[in-house]
Amino acid sequence: MQPTSHLHLGNYLGALRNWVALQNEPGSECLYGVVDLHAITQPYDPAQLKNATREIAAAYIAGGIDPVKSAIFAQSAVPAHAELMWLFATVTQMGKLERMTQFKDKAGKNAERAGLGLFAYPVLMAADILVYKATHVPVGEDQKQHLELARDIAATFNHKFGEGFFPLPEPVITGEATRVMSLRDGTQKMSKSAESDMSRINLTDDADAIANKIKKAKTDPHPLPETLEDLKTRPEADNLLTLYAALSGQSKAEALTAFAGKNFSEFKPALVEVAVAHLAPITARMRDLMADPVEIDRILTRGNEKANAIANGVLRDVKEKMGFWR
Ligand code: AMP
Repeated sequence: MQPTSHLHLGNYLGALRNWVALQNEPGSECLYGVVDLHAITQPYDPAQLKNATREIAAAYIAGGIDPVKSAIFAQSAVPAHAELMWLFATVTQMGKLERMTQFKDKAGKNAERAGLGLFAYPVLMAADILVYKATHVPVGEDQKQHLELARDIAATFNHKFGEGFFPLPEPVITGEATRVMSLRDGTQKMSKSAESDMSRINLTDDADAIANKIKKAKTDPHPLPETLEDLKTRPEADNLLTLYAALSGQSKAEALTAFAGKNFSEFKPALVEVAVAHLAPITARMRDLMADPVEIDRILTRGNEKANAIANGVLRDVKEKMGFWR
């Protein structure tokens, strides 16, 4: 995750929660990066960056990542990411990058003036994954296209320099809420960059803020429908029900059975209740962790060492395959 601003419920349900599940699978070895090199592809404040990185690390831990079992590291502290990106840039076609919808969204109308870093973002992401020869990448649905590109880069590299060298990384897109939408507009993704803070629930929001945002969330005038099919044409209702299901540990169908025919005035307080119950302990833990930045730095330093040890080995092999002096 990028240390751009506070994490929101989309980051948590779409990614972090699934990371914890993966970490807890027997035999899995996981690394979780705070991708600060990605964060600088758009305007940012250098004075805030370090602390933003600490906050994301704190969110990982508060959300359930165990820093003893898994490495939590800062991308910029592992130089092999950026070096591998350059090597990958030489096997990546511009045309493929031009098709990336996230670049189009982020660059907006004036793509000519967007930075090269923003354009090349998916190549760095491929390096983030493959520098560990990672096999599984748990992400939200919005990252599916980038993962496909990472697989493509791995396959091209293998074809040119050594069959079977890189695994083709699998996206792991699971859970009820793989694409959490804005509370103000059910057709837009919940995002850190949306102007209105009312559009998202931040992991730093307290219970009152969460309640207020859900109370003011956009809805339509009808009661909740009887079937999932009928939800499809009602983006806001669909999103709120998805959140309820994900936060209460039910399937969407189960959640709908409980609320079919009910009005939002009855449903929203129930959603507030599960959201606060689920998020309050995470928020509290994050606050405690952020009060001890020295400890977070210690955790990051340990994670950086672990990540460097793996990444440097893979990079050395890549450079050898590509014919470099070593
Ligand atoms: P980013 O905000 O770009 O740092 O994304 C970090 C992770 O959160 C990625 O795995 C994204 O796929 C995931 N993510 C971001 N926004 C959402 C959303 N609205 N719904 C589900 N997952 C999301």
